[in-house]
Amino acid sequence: MAREPKTCIFCRGNGLTDEHVVPDWLKQLIPKNERTGNLFILTDHGAGRQSRQVRQGSPITRQVHFVCGRCNTGWMSTLEDELKPTLANLVLGKTITLSEWQRRRLSTWAVKTAMTSEYIHPPTVAIPFDMREHLRLHRQPHERFDVWIGFYNGKGRLLGSEHHSGEFSEPGTEPTGVPNTQATTIGLGQIFFQIAYCGVPQARFHLKNEKISKMRRIWPPTEGEMMWPPFLVLDADDITIILRGIHEAFEDK
Ligand SMILES: [Zn+2]
Repeated sequence: MAREPKTCIFCRGNGLTDEHVVPDWLKQLIPKNERTGNLFILTDHGAGRQSRQVRQGSPITRQVHFVCGRCNTGWMSTLEDELKPTLANLVLGKTITLSEWQRRRLSTWAVKTAMTSEYIHPPTVAIPFDMREHLRLHRQPHERFDVWIGFYNGKGRLLGSEHHSGEFSEPGTEPTGVPNTQATTIGLGQIFFQIAYCGVPQARFHLKNEKISKMRRIWPPTEGEMMWPPFLVLDADDITIILRGIHEAFEDK
């Protein structure tokens, strides 16, 4: 079971620095009086039914101490700089066209954020080191990740995240007690991210809920330009239903 990391979770290097899970400038784009963190069930569910932890609070607003200075000021800050205008437009709900390149960078940023927020509660970590190393070396997620985005146009503006993890195994294999599958949901202003990783080879995490039709897949990569916002948008009820579906997927395993 993962513990509080002593070295960088992306490169195993020393010299850990403080880092915000989601940068401050991004949070400040969302007007305080419109933030509806309470639309989110702000919890962190982990490690199967036996040791399930429920933590209140909004993990993405936290500062963390498990990324080294080299990663933080190197590839992570390059990624953020490249994405700044795109992220700002998505948070503010502007009409834009997302190129294939932008969607790849956005997927990388979303998966990086999921990987970091997962470590806020180490026993719930489900993504293995080689997946983080892959992201750092290739500047994009491994193909076993799924990333969807949705446009939120309900009451208020989103600011929060939810993390679910658990162990899923192939028939005939013994459970190890270590989570290997996770789903991270992130809401920032008018952009809603769903990031999934399944540790069972040949298996994928599926969002069965019909609300998924309001989400657009951005990873594994799709081709062509994507007009944003999409025709179908999410409201507060949609988000509650999506989150309930994810919660049940981890409860029923
Ligand atoms: Zn590092």
